[in-house]
Amino acid sequence: MSRNRYAVAFTTATALLAAALLLSPASGSSVTAAGPVAKGPTYVYRVNAPLGAATEKLLALDLDVLEGRDGQDLFVMGDRIAGNKMRAAGFPAVIEQVLETPQWTPVARRWQADEPTLLTEGFNALAEETFYGGYRTVNAQYAHLAAVAAARPDLATVYTYGQSWRKTQNRGGYDLRVICITKISSGDCARSTSAPKPRFLLMAQIHARELTTGDVAYRWIDYLVNNYGVVPAVTNLLNTTELWVIPIANPDGVDIVQQGGNSPFLQRKNGDDVGGTNCGLTGSSQSGVDLNRNAGSHYGGASTSTNRCAQTYRGTAADSETETRALEALQRSLFADTRGTGDTAAASANTKGIFVTLHSYANLVLFPWGFSNSVRTGNDAKLRAMATQIRTLAGSGWQSGQPGDVLYNASGTSDDWIYDQLGTPSFTWEIGPNSGSCSGFLPAYSCQTSTFWPKLQPMLMYAAGKAAAPYA
Ligand SMILES: [Zn+2]
Repeated sequence: MSRNRYAVAFTTATALLAAALLLSPASGSSVTAAGPVAKGPTYVYRVNAPLGAATEKLLALDLDVLEGRDGQDLFVMGDRIAGNKMRAAGFPAVIEQVLETPQWTPVARRWQADEPTLLTEGFNALAEETFYGGYRTVNAQYAHLAAVAAARPDLATVYTYGQSWRKTQNRGGYDLRVICITKISSGDCARSTSAPKPRFLLMAQIHARELTTGDVAYRWIDYLVNNYGVVPAVTNLLNTTELWVIPIANPDGVDIVQQGGNSPFLQRKNGDDVGGTNCGLTGSSQSGVDLNRNAGSHYGGASTSTNRCAQTYRGTAADSETETRALEALQRSLFADTRGTGDTAAASANTKGIFVTLHSYANLVLFPWGFSNSVRTGNDAKLRAMATQIRTLAGSGWQSGQPGDVLYNASGTSDDWIYDQLGTPSFTWEIGPNSGSCSGFLPAYSCQTSTFWPKLQPMLMYAAGKAAAPYA
């Protein structure tokens, strides 16, 4: 951890070095952005797979089962071979959608700029760095954090809480960053569980290709900072609560996605390609570890794979990934442990804080347990009621429940982990419809303004407002 206070004075040599690093590929990098060329078009298949045995059988095929369900049907992304594999296993997979053939030439790689570069460029050049119609690159998101903290030191503090896998390997990569927003008084935004104000932690893009989530985080930061002293509900929230935001939990993954430019790559997992360098780079086969299957809570159970190329590859061991460990250390430093051990122990009614992790897409509000919906948490009634409230704010077409109630069971997830270890109420929000305009991992950027942010803003305000006494 380090507190990012940007020194205004820095040497010319440092600035030149920073500029050089910015403009050239990472030195010594042997990273191959594009693997073998995809064979034929990519499809989204609609597959009849009712909850229970059929869903488990489908998940065991190691295909790219999407985070969406329509009644008895799940959706699987893959090529013709994936379709044949499902049919051979007894699933009559129907083509729902033919995806555009991606552009397989990666755009130039630009690793993270350091703080002196951000300062000299006045944040502007990097803050405007976008792809696919307006989505921010990792550099742009980080320049945004720095700009907000520089402009409003009374409201915002940025921390580096870890490093991405590639950064730990000297293969480019990024720091892991989080911003704390509140009207800062003594003791606020400290990484201590005895902080005076309750915390609301929002996390985006643990799954890199779920572009909507990073954009929601970006807008949430601006909404809070720009409306302090303007909108009474925001002023009150910042006076009473700390709003922590991780805009990109998986920056190596997002770096891969953004290199597709106007045809973003469908990287879901992190950049750890150990033992999986020949996976290719398609939606259904890619290297990396699924950070949302890697957490040390019921690790290795439902909806996880030991196949390194699979979308739900869980890694070699629980918490094997640096991004997972850094996130868990951050969460332990922010939220006091109020829950006993075992799957049914309830967290204390005095528990403070809420964790929300954003995903896409299925119009769902999920809460623990994810590993099995035949087990209820000790705080089930409160979690279920809050999820119903949040889903109601989202409007028609949304559902809520444990993952296995409405989607499929999944283990080793970040939201199960924080509830399991600390008792903090946690939710996954799956943003976006299963079909129609604005569906999919890569909705047109205009969907963010027209559709998603108007929905998410009241949902976030409601959830953040519950951080003081979520189980009361
Ligand atoms: Zn996801």
